[in-house]
Amino acid sequence: MRPPKRAMYRMPWSLNDNPIGWLEITDKCNIYCRGCYRRNLTGHKPLEQIKDEIRFFKEWRNCDNISIAGGEPLIHPDILEIVAFVRELGMKPLILTNGVRLTDDRPFLRELKKAGVFGFTLHIDSEQQRPHWKGKSEQDLLELRLSYARMIHQEGGLHCSIGATIYPANLGDVPMLVRWAGEHADLIQGMIFIAFRGAPQDAAFDYYTGGRRLEAIDVSYTVEDTSEIGITSADIYEKIKEACPEYEPGAYLGGSQTHDAVKWLLAARLVGKGNRVYGSLGPKAMELVQIFHHLFQGTYMGYTSLWRFPKIAFLALGAFDRGIRQAHVAYWRDIRRSPLRALQPVYAQSLAIIQAPDLLPDGRQDMCDSCPDMTVWNGTLVHSCRMDEWRLYGSYLMAQPHPVEEATPEPETVSANR
Ligand code: SF4
Repeated sequence: MRPPKRAMYRMPWSLNDNPIGWLEITDKCNIYCRGCYRRNLTGHKPLEQIKDEIRFFKEWRNCDNISIAGGEPLIHPDILEIVAFVRELGMKPLILTNGVRLTDDRPFLRELKKAGVFGFTLHIDSEQQRPHWKGKSEQDLLELRLSYARMIHQEGGLHCSIGATIYPANLGDVPMLVRWAGEHADLIQGMIFIAFRGAPQDAAFDYYTGGRRLEAIDVSYTVEDTSEIGITSADIYEKIKEACPEYEPGAYLGGSQTHDAVKWLLAARLVGKGNRVYGSLGPKAMELVQIFHHLFQGTYMGYTSLWRFPKIAFLALGAFDRGIRQAHVAYWRDIRRSPLRALQPVYAQSLAIIQAPDLLPDGRQDMCDSCPDMTVWNGTLVHSCRMDEWRLYGSYLMAQPHPVEEATPEPETVSANR
Protein backbone atom coordinates (compact mmCIF):
# COMPACT_ATOMS: atom_id res chain seq x y z
CA MET A 1 0.00 0.00 0.00
CA ARG A 2 1.28 3.48 -0.82
CA PRO A 3 -0.35 6.84 -1.56
CA PRO A 4 -1.05 7.36 -5.27
CA LYS A 5 1.21 9.92 -6.89
CA ARG A 6 -1.79 11.69 -8.40
CA ALA A 7 -3.08 12.44 -4.92
CA MET A 8 0.15 14.25 -3.97
CA TYR A 9 2.09 17.31 -5.08
CA ARG A 10 5.34 16.66 -6.92
CA MET A 11 7.87 19.02 -5.37
CA PRO A 12 8.99 21.59 -7.97
CA TRP A 13 12.66 21.27 -7.10
CA SER A 14 15.31 20.88 -9.81
CA LEU A 15 19.09 20.78 -10.22
CA ASN A 16 19.50 24.57 -10.35
CA ASP A 17 16.62 25.58 -8.11
CA ASN A 18 16.62 23.32 -5.11
CA PRO A 19 16.08 24.35 -1.49
CA ILE A 20 18.80 22.04 -0.20
CA GLY A 21 22.57 21.93 -0.71
CA TRP A 22 24.52 19.09 0.89
CA LEU A 23 27.84 20.39 2.19
CA GLU A 24 30.36 17.79 3.35
CA ILE A 25 33.03 19.36 5.49
CA THR A 26 34.83 16.23 6.70
CA ASP A 27 34.80 12.49 6.17
CA LYS A 28 36.00 11.81 9.73
CA CYS A 29 33.54 10.57 12.29
CA ASN A 30 33.50 9.82 16.00
CA ILE A 31 31.25 6.74 15.75
CA TYR A 32 30.43 4.09 13.18
CA CYS A 33 26.98 3.93 11.53
CA ARG A 34 26.22 0.90 9.44
CA GLY A 35 24.29 2.72 6.71
CA CYS A 36 27.00 5.39 6.18
CA TYR A 37 27.87 6.36 2.61
CA ARG A 38 31.27 7.83 3.40
CA ARG A 39 34.74 6.38 3.84
CA ASN A 40 37.40 8.23 5.76
CA LEU A 41 39.86 9.08 2.98
CA THR A 42 40.88 12.72 3.30
CA GLY A 43 39.79 13.96 6.75
CA HIS A 44 38.69 17.57 7.32
CA LYS A 45 38.33 19.82 4.29
CA PRO A 46 40.21 23.12 4.47
CA LEU A 47 38.08 26.16 5.32
CA GLU A 48 38.78 27.95 2.03
CA GLN A 49 37.59 24.95 0.02
CA ILE A 50 34.44 24.78 2.15
CA LYS A 51 33.75 28.46 1.59
CA ASP A 52 34.15 27.96 -2.18
CA GLU A 53 31.62 25.13 -2.05
CA ILE A 54 29.15 27.29 -0.11
CA ARG A 55 29.54 30.03 -2.74
CA PHE A 56 29.03 27.37 -5.42
CA PHE A 57 25.70 26.36 -3.86
CA LYS A 58 24.64 29.97 -3.69
CA GLU A 59 25.46 30.55 -7.34
CA TRP A 60 24.26 27.30 -8.94
CA ARG A 61 21.64 25.82 -6.65
CA ASN A 62 19.58 28.71 -5.20
CA CYS A 63 19.47 27.01 -1.80
CA ASP A 64 17.26 27.91 1.13
CA ASN A 65 19.30 25.79 3.50
CA ILE A 66 22.71 24.19 3.58
CA SER A 67 22.80 20.76 5.18
CA ILE A 68 26.20 20.65 6.85
CA ALA A 69 27.18 17.00 6.88
CA GLY A 70 30.09 14.60 6.81
CA GLY A 71 31.43 12.42 8.39
CA GLU A 72 30.58 14.15 11.62
CA PRO A 73 30.49 17.91 11.00
CA LEU A 74 30.66 18.94 14.66
CA ILE A 75 34.24 17.64 14.97
CA HIS A 76 35.50 19.98 12.23
CA PRO A 77 37.71 22.59 13.93
CA ASP A 78 36.18 25.46 11.87
CA ILE A 79 32.54 24.52 12.35
CA LEU A 80 31.59 27.88 13.92
CA GLU A 81 33.10 29.84 11.07
CA ILE A 82 31.42 27.56 8.51
CA VAL A 83 28.00 28.08 10.13
CA ALA A 84 28.55 31.84 10.23
CA PHE A 85 29.60 31.92 6.56
CA VAL A 86 26.45 30.07 5.44
CA ARG A 87 24.39 32.67 7.33
CA GLU A 88 26.42 35.50 5.86
CA LEU A 89 25.40 34.31 2.38
CA GLY A 90 21.72 34.35 3.41
CA MET A 91 21.10 30.60 3.78
CA LYS A 92 20.05 28.48 6.76
CA PRO A 93 22.85 26.32 8.20
CA LEU A 94 21.34 23.00 9.32
CA ILE A 95 23.74 20.53 10.95
CA LEU A 96 23.31 16.80 10.36
CA THR A 97 24.94 15.16 13.33
CA ASN A 98 25.07 12.02 15.44
CA GLY A 99 24.98 14.36 18.45
CA VAL A 100 27.94 12.81 20.30
CA ARG A 101 29.91 16.08 20.29
CA LEU A 102 26.95 17.91 21.83
CA THR A 103 26.66 15.56 24.79
CA ASP A 104 27.04 17.53 28.01
CA ASP A 105 28.40 20.54 26.13
CA ARG A 106 25.83 23.28 26.45
CA PRO A 107 28.42 26.06 25.91
CA PHE A 108 29.29 24.57 22.50
CA LEU A 109 25.60 24.50 21.54
CA ARG A 110 25.35 28.14 22.59
CA GLU A 111 28.33 29.07 20.43
CA LEU A 112 26.73 27.33 17.46
CA LYS A 113 23.55 29.28 18.06
CA LYS A 114 25.51 32.51 18.30
CA ALA A 115 27.22 31.68 15.01
CA GLY A 116 23.76 31.43 13.42
CA VAL A 117 22.93 27.71 13.26
CA PHE A 118 19.36 27.13 12.08
CA GLY A 119 19.02 23.75 13.75
CA PHE A 120 19.94 20.09 13.82
CA THR A 121 18.96 16.77 12.34
CA LEU A 122 20.12 14.13 14.80
CA HIS A 123 20.80 10.73 13.30
CA ILE A 124 20.23 8.07 15.96
CA ASP A 125 19.46 4.41 15.37
CA SER A 126 20.13 0.99 16.82
CA GLU A 127 22.74 -0.03 14.21
CA GLN A 128 25.24 2.63 15.27
CA GLN A 129 28.25 1.94 17.43
CA ARG A 130 27.77 4.73 19.98
CA PRO A 131 29.85 4.97 23.12
CA HIS A 132 27.70 3.79 26.07
CA TRP A 133 24.77 2.92 23.79
CA LYS A 134 26.03 -0.15 21.91
CA GLY A 135 23.51 -2.92 21.40
CA LYS A 136 20.59 -0.76 22.54
CA SER A 137 17.15 -1.11 21.00
CA GLU A 138 15.21 1.69 19.31
CA GLN A 139 13.05 1.80 22.42
CA ASP A 140 16.12 2.22 24.67
CA LEU A 141 17.41 5.02 22.44
CA LEU A 142 14.30 7.16 22.98
CA GLU A 143 15.89 8.45 26.16
CA LEU A 144 18.93 9.67 24.22
CA ARG A 145 16.82 11.24 21.46
CA LEU A 146 14.73 13.04 24.04
CA SER A 147 17.73 14.37 25.93
CA TYR A 148 19.11 15.99 22.74
CA ALA A 149 15.70 17.33 21.71
CA ARG A 150 15.24 18.90 25.15
CA MET A 151 18.68 20.44 25.15
CA ILE A 152 18.15 21.98 21.70
CA HIS A 153 14.67 23.20 22.61
CA GLN A 154 15.93 24.83 25.80
CA GLU A 155 18.34 26.97 23.78
CA GLY A 156 15.29 28.32 21.98
CA GLY A 157 14.53 29.08 18.34
CA LEU A 158 16.37 26.07 16.89
CA HIS A 159 14.97 23.44 14.54
CA CYS A 160 15.24 19.81 15.70
CA SER A 161 14.53 16.74 13.56
CA ILE A 162 15.38 13.15 14.33
CA GLY A 163 16.55 10.72 11.65
CA ALA A 164 16.99 6.95 11.60
CA THR A 165 18.08 4.43 9.00
CA ILE A 166 15.48 1.70 8.61
CA TYR A 167 16.63 -1.90 8.22
CA PRO A 168 14.56 -5.09 8.26
CA ALA A 169 15.55 -5.37 11.95
CA ASN A 170 14.01 -2.05 13.05
CA LEU A 171 11.19 -1.61 10.50
CA GLY A 172 8.78 -2.91 13.14
CA ASP A 173 9.85 -0.07 15.47
CA VAL A 174 8.63 2.67 13.13
CA PRO A 175 5.10 2.86 14.66
CA MET A 176 6.61 3.23 18.13
CA LEU A 177 8.92 6.02 16.91
CA VAL A 178 6.04 7.85 15.25
CA ARG A 179 3.90 7.68 18.40
CA TRP A 180 6.81 8.90 20.47
CA ALA A 181 7.44 11.81 18.09
CA GLY A 182 3.75 12.79 18.33
CA GLU A 183 4.01 12.86 22.11
CA HIS A 184 6.93 15.31 21.79
CA ALA A 185 5.68 17.48 18.95
CA ASP A 186 6.51 20.51 21.12
CA LEU A 187 10.23 19.56 20.89
CA ILE A 188 10.60 17.67 17.61
CA GLN A 189 9.75 19.31 14.31
CA GLY A 190 10.32 16.29 12.12
CA MET A 191 11.20 12.62 11.77
CA ILE A 192 13.19 11.29 8.81
CA PHE A 193 13.20 7.59 7.97
CA ILE A 194 15.85 6.49 5.46
CA ALA A 195 15.43 3.04 3.91
CA PHE A 196 18.76 1.21 4.12
CA ARG A 197 20.44 0.84 0.73
CA GLY A 198 23.67 -0.74 -0.49
CA ALA A 199 25.40 -1.92 -3.65
CA PRO A 200 24.98 -5.69 -3.96
CA GLN A 201 28.33 -7.51 -3.91
CA ASP A 202 26.86 -10.77 -5.03
CA ALA A 203 27.46 -12.64 -8.26
CA ALA A 204 24.59 -10.89 -10.07
CA PHE A 205 26.40 -7.69 -11.15
CA ASP A 206 29.76 -6.53 -12.50
CA TYR A 207 30.83 -2.93 -11.88
CA TYR A 208 32.66 -0.77 -14.44
CA THR A 209 34.46 2.55 -14.43
CA GLY A 210 35.75 4.16 -17.64
CA GLY A 211 34.99 0.93 -19.53
CA ARG A 212 37.14 -1.11 -17.13
CA ARG A 213 35.62 -3.92 -15.08
CA LEU A 214 36.44 -3.83 -11.36
CA GLU A 215 37.30 -7.05 -9.59
CA ALA A 216 35.65 -5.74 -6.42
CA ILE A 217 34.25 -2.40 -5.28
CA ASP A 218 35.59 -0.65 -2.27
CA VAL A 219 32.82 1.79 -1.31
CA SER A 220 31.41 1.59 2.22
CA TYR A 221 27.89 0.78 1.06
CA THR A 222 28.34 -2.69 -0.37
CA VAL A 223 26.14 -5.47 0.98
CA GLU A 224 26.50 -9.22 0.81
CA ASP A 225 22.96 -9.96 1.91
CA THR A 226 20.68 -8.36 -0.68
CA SER A 227 17.55 -9.27 1.29
CA GLU A 228 18.48 -6.35 3.58
CA ILE A 229 18.12 -3.64 0.92
CA GLY A 230 14.58 -4.20 -0.23
CA ILE A 231 12.70 -1.87 2.17
CA THR A 232 10.69 0.68 0.21
CA SER A 233 9.03 3.96 1.04
CA ALA A 234 5.71 2.08 0.79
CA ASP A 235 6.79 -0.33 3.56
CA ILE A 236 7.64 2.57 5.88
CA TYR A 237 4.46 4.41 4.87
CA GLU A 238 2.40 1.41 5.97
CA LYS A 239 4.19 1.25 9.30
CA ILE A 240 3.57 4.95 9.96
CA LYS A 241 -0.10 4.45 9.12
CA GLU A 242 -0.27 1.70 11.75
CA ALA A 243 0.66 4.25 14.40
CA CYS A 244 -1.13 7.22 12.94
CA PRO A 245 -4.12 6.72 10.60
CA GLU A 246 -4.37 10.52 10.20
CA TYR A 247 -0.91 10.62 8.57
CA GLU A 248 -1.09 11.24 4.82
CA PRO A 249 1.82 12.48 2.71
CA GLY A 250 1.05 15.56 0.64
CA ALA A 251 4.17 15.69 -1.57
CA TYR A 252 6.78 13.44 -3.14
CA LEU A 253 9.78 13.10 -5.41
CA GLY A 254 9.82 10.18 -7.82
CA GLY A 255 12.63 8.16 -9.32
CA SER A 256 14.97 9.28 -12.09
CA GLN A 257 14.45 6.04 -14.04
CA THR A 258 11.13 4.53 -13.09
CA HIS A 259 7.68 6.12 -13.22
CA ASP A 260 6.25 4.46 -10.13
CA ALA A 261 9.06 4.73 -7.54
CA VAL A 262 8.50 7.12 -4.66
CA LYS A 263 11.89 8.27 -3.43
CA TRP A 264 10.92 11.09 -1.09
CA LEU A 265 7.56 10.95 0.61
CA LEU A 266 6.80 14.11 2.56
CA ALA A 267 4.08 14.76 5.09
CA ALA A 268 3.31 17.45 7.63
CA ARG A 269 0.85 16.28 10.24
CA LEU A 270 -1.00 18.59 12.59
CA VAL A 271 -0.55 17.52 16.17
CA GLY A 272 -2.03 18.84 19.40
CA LYS A 273 -0.56 18.28 22.84
CA GLY A 274 -0.35 14.63 23.93
CA ASN A 275 -0.15 13.10 20.43
CA ARG A 276 -3.63 14.22 19.37
CA VAL A 277 -3.19 14.12 15.59
CA TYR A 278 -5.83 16.11 13.71
CA GLY A 279 -4.73 15.36 10.16
CA SER A 280 -2.06 16.19 7.57
CA LEU A 281 -1.40 19.00 5.12
CA GLY A 282 -2.73 17.97 1.72
CA PRO A 283 -1.17 18.59 -1.71
CA LYS A 284 -2.61 22.08 -2.18
CA ALA A 285 -1.18 23.33 1.10
CA MET A 286 2.20 21.83 0.18
CA GLU A 287 2.04 23.57 -3.19
CA LEU A 288 1.05 26.92 -1.69
CA VAL A 289 3.94 26.78 0.78
CA GLN A 290 6.44 26.19 -2.04
CA ILE A 291 4.95 28.80 -4.36
CA PHE A 292 4.68 31.55 -1.75
CA HIS A 293 8.13 30.84 -0.39
CA HIS A 294 9.57 31.13 -3.87
CA LEU A 295 7.55 34.25 -4.64
CA PHE A 296 8.52 36.13 -1.49
CA GLN A 297 11.90 34.61 -0.52
CA GLY A 298 13.21 33.68 -3.98
CA THR A 299 13.87 30.04 -3.04
CA TYR A 300 11.82 26.90 -2.50
CA MET A 301 11.53 25.76 1.10
CA GLY A 302 13.23 22.72 2.61
CA TYR A 303 13.00 23.34 6.34
CA THR A 304 11.08 25.76 8.49
CA SER A 305 11.43 26.97 12.05
CA LEU A 306 7.69 27.69 12.06
CA TRP A 307 6.43 24.49 13.56
CA ARG A 308 3.77 25.92 15.83
CA PHE A 309 1.18 25.89 13.09
CA PRO A 310 -0.40 29.36 13.10
CA LYS A 311 -4.13 29.06 13.80
CA ILE A 312 -4.77 31.77 11.24
CA ALA A 313 -3.10 29.63 8.55
CA PHE A 314 -5.05 26.66 9.83
CA LEU A 315 -8.27 28.55 9.16
CA ALA A 316 -7.23 30.19 5.89
CA LEU A 317 -5.58 27.22 4.20
CA GLY A 318 -8.65 25.10 4.90
CA ALA A 319 -10.34 26.93 2.02
CA PHE A 320 -7.88 25.41 -0.45
CA ASP A 321 -6.73 22.15 1.00
CA ARG A 322 -8.76 19.02 1.64
CA GLY A 323 -6.20 17.67 4.18
CA ILE A 324 -6.58 20.77 6.33
CA ARG A 325 -10.36 20.69 5.98
CA GLN A 326 -10.38 17.16 7.38
CA ALA A 327 -8.07 18.29 10.19
CA HIS A 328 -10.55 21.09 10.97
CA VAL A 329 -13.31 18.59 11.58
CA ALA A 330 -11.14 16.59 14.01
CA TYR A 331 -9.88 19.77 15.69
CA TRP A 332 -13.31 21.27 16.36
CA ARG A 333 -14.63 17.92 17.59
CA ASP A 334 -11.74 17.89 20.05
CA ILE A 335 -12.41 21.48 21.16
CA ARG A 336 -16.10 20.70 21.72
CA ARG A 337 -15.03 17.87 24.01
CA SER A 338 -12.50 19.99 25.87
CA PRO A 339 -12.81 23.76 25.16
CA LEU A 340 -9.61 24.71 27.01
CA ARG A 341 -7.62 22.95 24.32
CA ALA A 342 -8.39 25.90 22.04
CA LEU A 343 -5.69 27.73 24.03
CA GLN A 344 -3.07 25.10 23.26
CA PRO A 345 -0.86 25.27 20.20
CA VAL A 346 -1.16 23.02 17.15
CA TYR A 347 2.19 21.78 15.86
CA ALA A 348 3.11 20.94 12.27
CA GLN A 349 5.40 17.94 12.50
CA SER A 350 6.97 16.64 9.30
CA LEU A 351 7.43 12.95 8.58
CA ALA A 352 9.78 12.25 5.68
CA ILE A 353 10.67 8.94 4.09
CA ILE A 354 13.69 8.60 1.81
CA GLN A 355 14.22 5.58 -0.39
CA ALA A 356 17.77 6.05 -1.65
CA PRO A 357 19.08 4.58 -4.96
CA ASP A 358 17.76 1.31 -6.29
CA LEU A 359 19.84 -0.83 -8.57
CA LEU A 360 17.47 -2.02 -11.29
CA PRO A 361 17.76 -5.53 -12.76
CA ASP A 362 19.23 -4.10 -16.00
CA GLY A 363 21.99 -2.26 -14.10
CA ARG A 364 20.52 1.27 -14.15
CA GLN A 365 20.48 3.21 -10.87
CA ASP A 366 17.14 4.73 -9.97
CA MET A 367 18.07 7.92 -8.14
CA CYS A 368 15.85 10.50 -6.44
CA ASP A 369 14.44 12.70 -9.18
CA SER A 370 15.78 16.26 -8.64
CA CYS A 371 17.99 14.92 -5.84
CA PRO A 372 17.88 17.42 -2.95
CA ASP A 373 21.10 16.09 -1.42
CA MET A 374 23.54 16.91 -4.21
CA THR A 375 26.98 17.88 -3.06
CA VAL A 376 30.02 19.51 -4.66
CA TRP A 377 32.81 17.32 -5.90
CA ASN A 378 35.66 18.84 -7.94
CA GLY A 379 33.57 21.84 -8.98
CA THR A 380 30.52 19.89 -10.06
CA LEU A 381 27.30 18.60 -8.48
CA VAL A 382 27.10 14.88 -7.67
CA HIS A 383 24.67 12.77 -5.64
CA SER A 384 26.09 12.76 -2.12
CA CYS A 385 25.01 9.15 -1.59
CA ARG A 386 27.37 8.11 -4.40
CA MET A 387 30.21 10.62 -4.04
CA ASP A 388 32.65 7.95 -2.92
CA GLU A 389 32.43 6.44 -6.41
CA TRP A 390 33.88 9.72 -7.72
CA ARG A 391 36.47 9.93 -4.97
CA LEU A 392 37.66 6.36 -5.47
CA TYR A 393 37.14 5.77 -9.19
CA GLY A 394 36.67 9.21 -10.79
CA SER A 395 33.11 8.55 -12.01
CA TYR A 396 29.84 6.90 -11.07
CA LEU A 397 30.17 3.13 -11.32
CA MET A 398 28.17 1.42 -14.04
CA ALA A 399 26.60 -1.89 -13.09
CA GLN A 400 26.04 -4.64 -15.60
CA PRO A 401 24.02 -7.73 -14.75
CA HIS A 402 25.64 -11.03 -15.59
CA PRO A 403 24.04 -12.63 -18.60
CA VAL A 404 21.72 -15.43 -17.54
CA GLU A 405 23.40 -18.64 -18.51
CA GLU A 406 21.18 -20.59 -20.77
CA ALA A 407 20.87 -24.26 -19.93
CA THR A 408 22.67 -26.37 -22.56
CA PRO A 409 19.99 -28.21 -24.48
CA GLU A 410 20.04 -31.98 -24.24
CA PRO A 411 21.37 -33.46 -27.51
CA GLU A 412 18.47 -34.64 -29.56
CA THR A 413 18.23 -38.38 -29.72
CA VAL A 414 17.55 -39.63 -33.20
CA SER A 415 15.66 -42.78 -33.47
CA ALA A 416 17.40 -45.39 -35.57
CA ASN A 417 14.38 -46.27 -37.66
CA ARG A 418 13.56 -42.73 -38.80
S1 SF4 B 1 19.81 10.42 -4.87
FE1 SF4 B 1 20.15 12.32 -3.71
S2 SF4 B 1 18.43 12.51 -2.36
FE2 SF4 B 1 18.43 10.42 -3.09
S3 SF4 B 1 19.58 9.32 -1.52
FE3 SF4 B 1 21.05 9.91 -3.08
S4 SF4 B 1 21.86 11.87 -2.39
FE4 SF4 B 1 20.01 11.50 -1.20
